[in-house]
Amino acid sequence: MAGKIIIISAPSGCGKSTIINAILAEGKIDMQFSVSATNRSPREGEQHGVNYFFLSDADFRKAIAEDAFVEYEEVYPGRYYGTLKSEVSRICEAGHNVVLDIDVKGGVNVKKLYGDQARSIFIMPPSVEELQRRLEGRATDSAEVIAERVGKAEFEIGFAKDYDFQVVNDDLATAIAQTASLIEEFVK
Ligand code: 5GP
Repeated sequence: MAGKIIIISAPSGCGKSTIINAILAEGKIDMQFSVSATNRSPREGEQHGVNYFFLSDADFRKAIAEDAFVEYEEVYPGRYYGTLKSEVSRICEAGHNVVLDIDVKGGVNVKKLYGDQARSIFIMPPSVEELQRRLEGRATDSAEVIAERVGKAEFEIGFAKDYDFQVVNDDLATAIAQTASLIEEFVK
């Protein structure tokens, strides 16, 4: 039996990766992470084939030409990310469910493509002001980068209504539990 597709999107700083990793680590749901391809460079600790398939610009273009993607987007100027057909089919055809961590445009497109075989979940910050406070609290980014991310978050939150469900990450443990139960109910 083909697996189902779970799409998770959120503005940067909303705890999306933490939520996905916590659910995967719990191991209660039969769900595997689809590793996307990107032309951005790996961050410290990231591994090829685990976090992403890190491709050169030329190889990313080649993958587009070879029709290797379910969808791809230029999420940041010059930085491309794409869901690989090979990943989705490998996981689904083995009968497992697949989780996609993708941006809002990709998420909306994949939901349209897969219809009832997919459930899309948008992780929301409690408010844009709170998101700004969290980003400032991380102290890893300049004021300019934070302003850019907050602006992008406002744009992304505009897509939340196009998702099947919205989860507000006010308290992390609650957001993990709510997301997990939305997935569990869908795949059972
Ligand atoms: P980061 O560079 O921080 O890992 O990811 C940046 C953004 O790209 C995140 O919003 C992430 O969800 C999105 N992203 C990662 N993989 C894909 C993908 O395959 N397709 C699309 N459309 N977005 C992706």
